[in-house]
Amino acid sequence: MTATLEPTPTKGPKPLINGQRPGGLQFAVYVGVLLPIVALAVAVPFAWGWGLSWVDVALSAVFYCLSGLGITVAFHRYFTHGSFKAQRWLRVALAISGSLAVQGPVITWVADHRRHHAFSDRDGDPHSPWAYGTSPLAIVKGFWHAHMGWLFERDQSNAERFAPDLLKDPAIKKVDQYFWLWTVITLVAPGILGGLISWSWWGLVTGFFWAGLVRVCVLHHVTWSVNSICHMIGERPFSARDRSANFWPLAILSFGESWHNLHHADPTSARHGVQRGQIDISARLIWLFEKFGWVDNVRWPTPTRLARLRAE
Ligand SMILES: [Zn+2]
Ligand SMILES: [Zn+2]
Repeated sequence: MTATLEPTPTKGPKPLINGQRPGGLQFAVYVGVLLPIVALAVAVPFAWGWGLSWVDVALSAVFYCLSGLGITVAFHRYFTHGSFKAQRWLRVALAISGSLAVQGPVITWVADHRRHHAFSDRDGDPHSPWAYGTSPLAIVKGFWHAHMGWLFERDQSNAERFAPDLLKDPAIKKVDQYFWLWTVITLVAPGILGGLISWSWWGLVTGFFWAGLVRVCVLHHVTWSVNSICHMIGERPFSARDRSANFWPLAILSFGESWHNLHHADPTSARHGVQRGQIDISARLIWLFEKFGWVDNVRWPTPTRLARLRAE
């Protein structure tokens, strides 16, 4: 959809797209996206009276938080938007924790998301639900595209244009290159832990299934819902130049990322849930990191700034 946006310039900004995803990688995307969905589809009958223990529930919760906050605090607020500065060791740990969400390597994720902000809900946005228009059919098509259809498009966001800061960091490039390893770990570790805690092979199988596959699938859909639903439905108390909206039902599961209207109005803000009662667990974690002295230069919202961002 976006490949023809700009001719390759000799001068000026680098092109949006820098090539097509190779066949093997495309296959991996299909497996990575569809396998967890298949797992979720069989999860319900599997859980009917057997196959889900309290160990599985606890492991799923722990890995959901670890990888989910890895997306929200690390990939999104830190690497994409620079909402705070982190100590070196934490920077690497954050990159690894986000990689455990199986949403692509850190540099790819950041490049796609910066492109989303640069062109939000306009031509060039990798995942706008408004890409096809506003007729009922176009909205259905747009929802699918924004939610997960865009993942299967082979155009790759140009990291040299959108993430040159990360390409310059050898440690982050290493974490990026070892994405396959983080994927193996995020699926296998819950199985091993489940097996050890319950001291049984069956515990290994259910740990892998619930806290590995099903957890990844749920987190995938929560993240994708921010891209789809939060650009369609909800309140718009702040002036953003796109259709981003605050969708409260996802606030807890998305760790505060569904306060998406404020986020587009003020992308570098470390807190997205800025209004009374808007729970933002990611902001809480950044606050905790700040208290420990692990992060600084946190871009907390100020009342004057928020007043300026309010929609008229
Ligand atoms: Zn958005
Ligand atoms: Zn963002």
